Amino acid sequence: MTTLVYINSDHSHAKASFEAVTYAKKLGGEVIVIASGDAADLNKLGEYGASKVLVDKSLAAADAQQITRLVAAAAEATGAEVIVFSHDLVAKAVAPRLSVRLKAGLISGAIALPQTDGGFSCKVNVFSGKAFGIVAVKTDRKIISLLPNSIQPEAAGAACPVEDFNGNVGAATVKVTETKKPEGSIPLPEAERVVSAGRGLKGPENWGMVEELAEALGAATACSRPVADIGWRPHHEHVGQTGVAIRPNLYIAIGISGAIQHLAGVNGSKVIVVVNTDPEAPFFKAADYGVVGDAFEIIPKLTEAVKKFRASH
Ligand SMILES: Cc1cc2nc3c(=O)[nH]c(=O)nc-3n(C[C@H](O)[C@H](O)[C@H](O)COP(=O)(O)OP(=O)(O)OC[C@H]3O[C@@H](n4cnc5c(N)ncnc54)[C@H](O)[C@@H]3O)c2cc1C
Repeated sequence: MTTLVYINSDHSHAKASFEAVTYAKKLGGEVIVIASGDAADLNKLGEYGASKVLVDKSLAAADAQQITRLVAAAAEATGAEVIVFSHDLVAKAVAPRLSVRLKAGLISGAIALPQTDGGFSCKVNVFSGKAFGIVAVKTDRKIISLLPNSIQPEAAGAACPVEDFNGNVGAATVKVTETKKPEGSIPLPEAERVVSAGRGLKGPENWGMVEELAEALGAATACSRPVADIGWRPHHEHVGQTGVAIRPNLYIAIGISGAIQHLAGVNGSKVIVVVNTDPEAPFFKAADYGVVGDAFEIIPKLTEAVKKFRASH
């Protein structure tokens, strides 16, 4: 069996890409990566299980239709039976198109390896992470988009060859005029730890203590939607149903009420810590640890404790 993994070259060193290749390797059989856009370090994907990387270097700023055609061409050329994406914005736009084009069943947002005894099915999150579902596909060819942080990347192999691949994808229908990369050293979707704050912080001038706690923990910063809407924080930090969906190991929510639309983007986090003055705040129902108290008292003390702990370990 051959499994094809799509990687955008911009993400060639992203944890989510290593997870997708590791996942494909665990399916058994050969793993081939199809990448769009040039990058120096694509051969590193071999360490996670890829036997080779095919790359269409001309596709630096490809649109969803072009990527769909590229992956379809690579699937035909390699005879891949399974195609794996990391479940990001590109996958959400491309995987359904590819599903129609290849007449291949799609499992969107898988969180585990498939069950293959008597069929092919995968566990997925449903209702914004409030429940699990099992999705079975019956087509010969299958597409899986894997939710980030569902499995640990495993680097056991060696660098692999990288070969040019021409997908004959045609012209783009979308013109990219500007690309803005999020600031901050840790990209939010990649972060293992996230410190997030909401309207309870009263104003942008109070974010210093959030950033200090994040720095002490080696965490990324995030925020609720109104905070980004008012302009206290940049939009790329907004998490939730209409923002970035994240699944870090640790999510600390400070002065955020825990509205359903916010929870939809964060309730896959492994451990949730909530700090809120209101003991009735809905977020406490989703929390593993909760502190009822004033963020302005709690957060500096927490930061101090983290720094002390780090200094002594
Ligand atoms: C279609 C739609 C989509 C949406 N998408 C999103 C989304 O993606 N992400 C998102 O976040 N929201 C989203 N929202 C908005 C969402 O419904 C909530 O309004 C929003 O999440 C509330 O933000 P908040 O918790 O920061 O503010 P608030 O609801 O005002 O809550 C502030 C919290 O801070 C606490 N607090 C106050 N002072 C302190 C203090 N000193 N110390 C500690 N705690 C304190 C309060 O008790 C309160 O719980 C969406 C809404 C709609 C209708």
